[in-house]
Amino acid sequence: PKRSREAAEGKTPGLRAGACRPGVRAAGSAAVRSVKTPTSPLSRRQWLLSSGATLAGLALSSRLLNFEAQAQQAAEPAASGPVRARLSLNENPFGPSPAALQAMTACLASGQACRYPFGEATELVALIAKKEGVTPEHIVLGAGSGELLEKVGLHFGLAGGEVIHATPGYVQLPRMLEAMGGRVVPVPVNARLEHDLDAMAAKVSGRNSVVYIANPNNPTGTVIEPGRLADFVREVSKRTCVFLDEAYLDIADRYAERTLVGLVNEERNLVVARTFSKIHGLAGLRIGYAVTSPKFAAVLRRYGGASLSFPGIVAATASLRDTGFIAAARGKIVAEREQFTALLRELGRPSAESQANFVFFQTGRPHAEVQAAMRREGVAIARTFPPLTDWARISVGTPEENALARAALRK
Ligand code: PLP
Repeated sequence: PKRSREAAEGKTPGLRAGACRPGVRAAGSAAVRSVKTPTSPLSRRQWLLSSGATLAGLALSSRLLNFEAQAQQAAEPAASGPVRARLSLNENPFGPSPAALQAMTACLASGQACRYPFGEATELVALIAKKEGVTPEHIVLGAGSGELLEKVGLHFGLAGGEVIHATPGYVQLPRMLEAMGGRVVPVPVNARLEHDLDAMAAKVSGRNSVVYIANPNNPTGTVIEPGRLADFVREVSKRTCVFLDEAYLDIADRYAERTLVGLVNEERNLVVARTFSKIHGLAGLRIGYAVTSPKFAAVLRRYGGASLSFPGIVAATASLRDTGFIAAARGKIVAEREQFTALLRELGRPSAESQANFVFFQTGRPHAEVQAAMRREGVAIARTFPPLTDWARISVGTPEENALARAALRK
C-alpha cells in the first residue's frame, strides 16, 4: 500500500512518532477504531487495525515464521549431494541444558502437553522479569523473538512508519514493516562492518520511526561498545523508538556490561528482544521475549500470537534456572568459533570481529561460487548478504561439522 501524506507526516491520531513511548496513544486505540469506511490507503490500514489487523498480521507472520530458515532454504544451491554439516543457521549445536531436556521430556511423558500452558507461562514471565530486573508487565513472550520483531514491524508498518536499520543486517522486522505499508531506511555498516550509529541517528526523521539494532549484528557478528550504544539509546529514544535485538548477546564477552535491558527502567522509548533460540539451544521450540515499557508491552500483546508450546515453556523455565549452563555453552561455542577465525587468518581471508556463533568473512570471489563449492563438500553455508556479495557467513556447528567445514574451506 502507498503511504498517504497524512501518515508520512505522522499526523494520524495515535500513530505518530514515539508510539512505543509510555503515555503516547498507540495503534489500535479508540481513535483508530472509530474509522468506518476504508477509502484511502491510510484508512484501509486503520480499518485493518480495527477489524482484522491481528489476523492479517498473523497470516503474514505464518509465512514469515522461521524467517531465517526460509531465507536460507530459498537460497540453497541446486541439489549436490547430502548436507553433512548445516552451518547456514545460527543455533547452539551443542543443544539445550540437560535440565531443559529433562523438563520437556517429563512434560511429554506425563501427558501435560494436552493441556494449555497458562500457569507455566506466568511462572516463566516472573523468572524472566527477575533475571532482567523489571516487572512481569514489562515482558511480552513470543514464539521466538522473531515474533516480537514482526509485531513491532506490524505496529509501525500499519501506521505508515519507517525503520532505520543496518545493512547487511537481520531484516525480519524491516520486511514485516514494509509489507504492512511502511518505509525501510537501510544504513550501510561502516568499514569495520559495525553499525554506523551516527549515520543511523542522522536518518531519524522525527516521525513514526523505529531504529533497529541487532547487537551483535547478524550476519557480521560485530558488537557496539556498550557506553557508546547506551549514549545512543539515551539520545535517540528521546525522538523515536529504539529496538535492541540481543539475540546473540549471551555469546559475546562482558555480557553484563553489554546488555542494555536496564535502560527500559529509565522509561526509555525502547524495546529489547531476547531469545531462547541461541545460547539456550531451544531454537526448535520457538520461544523468546521482549522487554519494554508496560504501556508498549500491552500494545504488543494486542496483536495476538504468542501461541507457545507447553514443552517450550517448561524447557525455557528450566534453562533459566540452570545458572551454570550459559557459561559452559558459551565456552564451547567460542572455542569452535576461534578455530574458524584462526583458519581464515591463516588463509589470508579478512573476517569481521565476531562476538556471536558465526563468522562473516571475505571469500575473494562471488559468494554463489563459494556456497556451491562448500555444498559439494557437504557443507551448507548461509545465503548471500547484499551488498557484500563476496562475503560469506558460516555458523558454528558441532566439532565434527566444523572440522568438515574447515577442511572444505582449505580446499
Ligand atoms: N534476531 C536476530 C539477529 C536473528 O539472527 C534471529 C534469528 O536468526 C532472530 C532475531 C530470531 O530468532 P528466533 O525467532 O528464533 O528467536
